[in-house]
Amino acid sequence: MSKVVKAKYTSEAVPAFTHRTAMEEAARCLLCHDAPCSQGCPAGTNPAKFIRSIRFRNVKGAAETIRENNVLGGSCARVCPYDRLCEEACSRCGIDKPIEIGRLQRYAIEQEKLFNMKTLVAPAKKLNASVACVGAGPASLACAAELAKAGYNVTIFDREKKAGGVLTYGIVPTRLPQDVVDHDIAQVEGLGVKFVLGKEVKKADLDAFDAIFVGTGLWAKKLPDIKGTDLKGVYAAIDYLKEAREKKAEMGKKVVVVGGGDVTVDCAVTAKLLGAEDVKIVYRRTLEEAPGNMTEFQYALSLGIGITTNMAPAEVVGSGKVEAAKFTGRDGKSALTLDCDTIVFAIGQGAETVDFADVATGEKNLVKAEAGAVKGNVFAAGDIVNGGKTVVEAVAGGKEAAVSIMAYLEKKGVK
Ligand SMILES: Cc1cc2nc3c(=O)[nH]c(=O)nc-3n(C[C@H](O)[C@H](O)[C@H](O)COP(=O)(O)OP(=O)(O)OC[C@H]3O[C@@H](n4cnc5c(N)ncnc54)[C@H](O)[C@@H]3O)c2cc1C
Ligand code: SF4
Repeated sequence: MSKVVKAKYTSEAVPAFTHRTAMEEAARCLLCHDAPCSQGCPAGTNPAKFIRSIRFRNVKGAAETIRENNVLGGSCARVCPYDRLCEEACSRCGIDKPIEIGRLQRYAIEQEKLFNMKTLVAPAKKLNASVACVGAGPASLACAAELAKAGYNVTIFDREKKAGGVLTYGIVPTRLPQDVVDHDIAQVEGLGVKFVLGKEVKKADLDAFDAIFVGTGLWAKKLPDIKGTDLKGVYAAIDYLKEAREKKAEMGKKVVVVGGGDVTVDCAVTAKLLGAEDVKIVYRRTLEEAPGNMTEFQYALSLGIGITTNMAPAEVVGSGKVEAAKFTGRDGKSALTLDCDTIVFAIGQGAETVDFADVATGEKNLVKAEAGAVKGNVFAAGDIVNGGKTVVEAVAGGKEAAVSIMAYLEKKGVK
């Protein structure tokens, strides 16, 4: 595989603003009195305030405004569905086009990193109370940051070697480079949060903590109930993306990705950028019905990835390893066979059973929580509760749970 292709997989596809273009974009902001952009963010980010700071060349102030509400401001600047949130609400939509709020947020956080700005400060006085956050994804990181800012002792546990959850092991680096995730995590560490990584958590590990937060996400892989899914070369999406991020090397020459969401596109783009000769997406409905972002599908098409619709997987064929995949048409009559050496099923993930804490579970094995509270000293948020939404919603859930944890500890008199 050529170095050019490799570089493409690990480098960000959307270019950054320069100082000049950032200032020009900030100057387009109408400084709206009611700032509708600032009402649309689940994590409570205030774009009107940070754009105003950028406009007056106070970039540190801008970064502080972002971090104050969202410790994962760098990652969210890349992966948030802005078009459905703050940018959709922007008053300039009625004039020409919305302010590029996401790219301005990215600019402010890039400047924070470049000039080593200290935008979050750990409290001088620590409390005695301790909280364990299980899972080092966005929900736990946000929960831990809120608690640490209030002086609590927080330890994050994760069975993986690196923190970040899906940010580190799922999303393609072309959309979210690892150094951006690492810089966000460094802010959480800077608040005094401890990390215990690479270790499966047991109930006994958590006994000494006053409260437990469960932010374990959705990691049970899903494969369709068809013949041949035990063959070598069959992957669930999250395993494929994780292996690709670790290996950064070819992940199949002829790859078929089954699904119609953003994760499907992430898998197909990963395969292509890591050197696959032929990549095809196959979806069981029409593109109009697909849950994935149309811009991402267009990006996939621009890379030469083919998209076939109205075809559902029927069988994976091969002896020992994958050789082809068979599909049946939505009309019940048509059929399609695609030669491939790798097939990735991006058809969602499920919840694993939580065995390290006492939780109540409901439909699909998800943890039941009310404003982050589960029962007793156990709290939860993020994908394991909402069934899989967005990073910013996991951040919002983690923050909400932190408020409930603090109220619980105060009521118990644990300080
Ligand atoms: C491929 C992919 C692409 C996505 N793209 C986007 C996007 O572009 N924009 C967006 O907003 N959202 C996106 N999402 C959704 C988003 O990533 C999730 O909603 C978000 O990461 C949920 O955060 P979380 O903290 O709840 O869980 P996770 O990020 O899943 O983190 C959970 C962590 O818990 C750990 N864990 C699990 N069980 C245990 C255990 N027993 N002991 C210890 N640790 C454990 C895991 O290792 C993991 O690190 C994407 C999701 C996927 C899978
Ligand atoms: S809504 Fe748009 S124009 Fe108004 S303050 Fe927010 S970003 Fe600026």
